[in-house]
Amino acid sequence: MRKVILTPGTRNEIDTQVDKIIRGLGHPEPPLDLDAVFRLQQLDPQYYRTSEDGVVRETISRVKVGAKLFFERPTRIWEAIKTANLKALWIPEQKRILVDDDLHAMKKRWSFAHEIGHSILDWHRDFTFGDDQLTLVEGYHVDLEAEANYAAGRLLFLQDHFNQHVKGVQHTLKSLNKVADDFKNSWTSTLYRTVEVLDVPSFAIIGSHPVRRNSAEKTRHFITSAPFDVLFPSFDEAEALKVIRTYCKYSTRGPLGECSFALADESGERWEFTIESFALPHGDVLTLATLLQKLPIQIAVAGQSKANWLHLN
Ligand SMILES: [Zn+2]
Repeated sequence: MRKVILTPGTRNEIDTQVDKIIRGLGHPEPPLDLDAVFRLQQLDPQYYRTSEDGVVRETISRVKVGAKLFFERPTRIWEAIKTANLKALWIPEQKRILVDDDLHAMKKRWSFAHEIGHSILDWHRDFTFGDDQLTLVEGYHVDLEAEANYAAGRLLFLQDHFNQHVKGVQHTLKSLNKVADDFKNSWTSTLYRTVEVLDVPSFAIIGSHPVRRNSAEKTRHFITSAPFDVLFPSFDEAEALKVIRTYCKYSTRGPLGECSFALADESGERWEFTIESFALPHGDVLTLATLLQKLPIQIAVAGQSKANWLHLN
């Protein structure tokens, strides 16, 4: 899945709203305090548990979950949550955000930020938004969900504060784990956001184990920096997987290996990258590729392999 492409105009509008919050909080240092955002925005955050009934008694008439519209007849919120297997909900009338208390702490943080995203975009106000596992995934592509996710990312990473934090640094997965800790966000979302804003060629992959047999997507997210797109427009996740398979171990936890490799750009110039992968306990694998250097010009030899990448060690 390619990164979400929102138009620059939409990004600007969302950034303006996020900036109002960050200014309202007095440009805080990371990590962002979500309780302070709730107070500033006069939002009413609440948890529910799927094992308990009766926490939320109001009724709602229509809920948008991704591209689908549910419940044209008034339905108890609790029934809506159970029927559509919702993990989070934004109810504009009460300025209330409901989040499943059984979610992992990092997922709760993301879910609250996503619902805050719905709440600050005025063209989202016509709906109660119900969110399931899918719509809460960064990079999910229905426009309104992608917008809420973009807002969530910009808010949790304090916009330009994060850009200053990660630009001009040679990153490794380990260094991004530290950034994640500073911002109290997940390692996965930190990897995603970092590559997205980098002004040097870089890409990342978030997905299931690259070399083990599994049915899940090995390249659920393929994130590239803008300079990478310019230099290597035809390099895709299938090419990236070929590189990863040259070093990736079968183990299911911890570092899976690393290597360096060269990519030829459109004009035939070669660039050396380093790439590494790490298996998280819950099964996802994170991969980061960053530029090491531009290689000296080589004279092309007739009959050379057609592959546009070369394994270096
Ligand atoms: Zn949503």
